[in-house]
Amino acid sequence: TRTPVNVTVTGAAGQIGYALLFRIASGQLLGADVPVKLRLLEIPQGLKAAEGTAMELDDCAFPLLRGIDITDDPNVGFAGANVALLVGARPRTKGMERGDLLEANGGIFKPQGAAINAHAADDIKVLVVGNPANTNALIAQAAAPDVPAERFTAMTRLDHNRALSQLAKKTGSSVADIKRLTIWGNHSATQYPDIFHAEVAGKNAAEIVNDEAWLSDTFIPTVAKRGAAIIEARGASSAASAANAAIDHVHTWVNGTAEGDWTSMGIPSDGSYGVPEGLISSFPVTCKDGKYEIVQGLEINDFSRGRIDASVQELAEERDAVRALGLI
Ligand code: NDP
Repeated sequence: TRTPVNVTVTGAAGQIGYALLFRIASGQLLGADVPVKLRLLEIPQGLKAAEGTAMELDDCAFPLLRGIDITDDPNVGFAGANVALLVGARPRTKGMERGDLLEANGGIFKPQGAAINAHAADDIKVLVVGNPANTNALIAQAAAPDVPAERFTAMTRLDHNRALSQLAKKTGSSVADIKRLTIWGNHSATQYPDIFHAEVAGKNAAEIVNDEAWLSDTFIPTVAKRGAAIIEARGASSAASAANAAIDHVHTWVNGTAEGDWTSMGIPSDGSYGVPEGLISSFPVTCKDGKYEIVQGLEINDFSRGRIDASVQELAEERDAVRALGLI
């Protein structure tokens, strides 16, 4: 029998955690034949609610779930972790400046990175969901010098999935017909969903759409501001779709992208496409055998260049801010 894979989830008692844990335990993260052990990491105030979620997980009697541990100590939570989903973060509250937000999150992600460095399994894969996700991932990565930097990733898969869905609607196609869409840059309002290399049923998406005003005025803002639209409609932030994207991100990373397609992941830049090395920025990537590679050789037109550069500029400013705070 296979040894269980240790999956650590932080912020486990939050609403994304609630939408995520049952899917991990049922085999949707890693595969229907892969047993898992869950570690729920919470802050002290979240422990009791995490225990309640663990009771419900027990009551599902998932055959693949081989154990649940709950802790508020990152050194325990990441011990032997093979996959870590960093969901818990300090949300931006009214009147909070970006510097305060970055500092508060530094207090969470720096010790978590250090605990991953000291205690995680050698094959650890990290996905940061908690915002500001790219820069939180950078903070954790910088605190884990013994872990290969490429194991730290940030989630832009929800943006990718949102873009797929909007493009399918516009072109009257199904999401299953769309390939090679890309989210570039930061998981923020500056992100750039790029359809210039995308294909709808084998034809170039930008040529089918053939409407630059729709791209600038409808598509890009709809994808970038979807989170706010959901809060407005639901009265609460997106949770099930964020959890779904986290499942997709890790599943693709571990099990690979389909032939002829790619996905979007926030990953440490190697300098490709003019993105300064080390910034955790979203790129088009293919995955195979548990590793990802940036898709090379794409032609970037002026429309795309300006938008990629603006988002990357924001990432550089966030990096400079956390550097000035001594967080990296
Ligand atoms: P959620 O579960 O709704 O969200 C968690 C994080 O995910 C937030 O930072 C949120 O950012 C981010 N996020 C990323 N993408 C999305 C998306 N598309 N939609 C919504 N959120 C997104 O938060 P809750 O407040 O319900 O739960 C957070 C939990 O984390 C609490 O239980 C808290 O106790 C715990 N926590 C744990 C920590 C730890 O383990 N050390 C540290 C801090 C908190 P945004 O706010 O920008 O939407």
